[in-house]
Amino acid sequence: MQAPGQAWDEVRVRLLKRREELSQRLASVKADLAREDEPLSPDFAEQAGQRENDDVLTALRISTEAELRELEVALSRLRAGKYGECRRCGYPIEPRRLDAVPYTDSCSLCASQVR
Ligand SMILES: [Zn+2]
Repeated sequence: MQAPGQAWDEVRVRLLKRREELSQRLASVKADLAREDEPLSPDFAEQAGQRENDDVLTALRISTEAELRELEVALSRLRAGKYGECRRCGYPIEPRRLDAVPYTDSCSLCASQVR
């Protein structure tokens, strides 16, 4: 068992850094979607390209927002001293799983069972 508080410092730093990256990405995606520096082209073909680009940006915005939400939940679990503990069975989550899926709140056994 890892000592609560200290052991997760590295994870906390990693998550905070990721939050910074995601917030910046979200801000720039939103700015692009608001088309601050590129007005819709009068050319039809170009417009179609811009619309396609908007779809990509919107998908990126949605996935970034979703990740930010998961990240916030993980951070609050960290603050509550619950990070790394399976929400279902209460056992520690495998370090390798946490490494691969840092926002997870269940061990691989529970995750493979009922959702
Ligand atoms: Zn479990």
